[in-house]
Amino acid sequence: MAEFSPRTSITGSNAGSMEINLRIGVIGVGYVGLVTATCLAELGFIVTCYDTNQEKMRDLITGERCPIFEPRLQELIQKNLENLHFTDEPAKCIGWSDIIFICVGTPSSENGSVNMAYVISACDLVNKYAKNAGKVIVMKSTVPVGTYKYLKEYIGNNSYVYNPEFLREGLAVHDFMHPDRVVVGCTDEKGANTMVGIYKNFKNVMYVDVASAEVIKYASNAMLATRIAFMNEIAQLCNNIGANVLEVSRGVGSDNRIGPSFLIPGPGYGGSCFPKDTRALCYTMKKAGIESPIIESVIRSNESHKSYMFNFVRDAITTFKDKKVAVLGLAFKADTDDTRDSASLHLIDKLALDGAKVFVHDPLASHPMVNTYAIEEALENADVVFVMTEWEMYKEYPLHKHVKQGAIVADCRNLFNRKKIESTGLKYFGMGR
Ligand code: NAD
Repeated sequence: MAEFSPRTSITGSNAGSMEINLRIGVIGVGYVGLVTATCLAELGFIVTCYDTNQEKMRDLITGERCPIFEPRLQELIQKNLENLHFTDEPAKCIGWSDIIFICVGTPSSENGSVNMAYVISACDLVNKYAKNAGKVIVMKSTVPVGTYKYLKEYIGNNSYVYNPEFLREGLAVHDFMHPDRVVVGCTDEKGANTMVGIYKNFKNVMYVDVASAEVIKYASNAMLATRIAFMNEIAQLCNNIGANVLEVSRGVGSDNRIGPSFLIPGPGYGGSCFPKDTRALCYTMKKAGIESPIIESVIRSNESHKSYMFNFVRDAITTFKDKKVAVLGLAFKADTDDTRDSASLHLIDKLALDGAKVFVHDPLASHPMVNTYAIEEALENADVVFVMTEWEMYKEYPLHKHVKQGAIVADCRNLFNRKKIESTGLKYFGMGR
């Protein structure tokens, strides 16, 4: 039960017409902030964005390019330019707005705790330009349990709301506009009523207390990470005994009590959320004096699984030394340019350490520490191909036209048809098939 639920009088169908005039500021325009800002503009709100990254702001202010890749995002920005403003002056974003969404990064610290430096720096700005201004501060960043108490001094008499984001990169616009649920943790009625105005057209908006909202976010990501890690272990078993993990996944997921989502094995989960959020949950549990053997073993399992295919192939060829290896995919998943904690980066390091000549291709993603090549160049005369990201363009790619005769295709995403690959004279290693 929410500590502060919205007043019923404001939940009527006209509640939003008054709220639509509210002005919204968004601090931090990365994957979450830019999508949030753009979608809120699409919903009719007037939105002003601010980010400390000057290059990003320049791109957005000049309209030269969208600083991140996300399907549909660029066209939606263009469509909503009348409602969507970008500024490199925090005062304009914060001072001008009635509601301020904080969407800055919350990376992991060394010990697994959340590095709150960006959240604090955003709150410093709120403190500077809107202390006791009676605004509504909406935290969208994933923040640990207890954050509200910790931030109280910055918030002043502004209302604080925790509204965690559940979007998936690559489907972010869709997920924002059609979420399975919206979670809103409120600390007072003003915040609750404001959020009713913002989400008036959304179904399944849950009003809960802030602490519950904080736990919902971490528990959701930990559950999804657990399903992936579990299925990766099952994939290893399938490889061992000659079963097909895709059939297993279908059979298991057809049980209504289980459901089919997130039962697809891969090279090990990565990205900007699951790795850091599972670590943060462990840290929080530890601090609370609670043991967390399940989630700790999920983290360990995922770390070890990231080396699974590397070891599997090396067992077959003894060493990667002087072998040409093509790595297809650098992004942690398809339809994003995000490489944070990507399993591909882990593999590239291991290959380099073992003496391989590594040629990486990705249609979109890049990384300052990795050279990327055109796909033909990456594949030309390769001894081994690792398929790391499920990009559509790889699915029917004629690998045999480029790689060495008899080369190994290590398909960590199960993109290819084994028989087809083998019929071209290549060796096929699937992830659990
Ligand atoms: P991001 O790194 O893409 O973007 C964060 C942005 O905040 C950057 O552009 C950075 O320059 C900016 N920033 C940092 N400090 C600032 C400040 N003081 N003022 C203004 N701007 C500042 O991060 P992201 O992926 O968008 O994630 C943001 C939050 O949302 C994180 O807490 C993350 O865990 C959570 N989240 C992310 C996803 C996802 O798929 N990326 C999904 C759900 C939740």
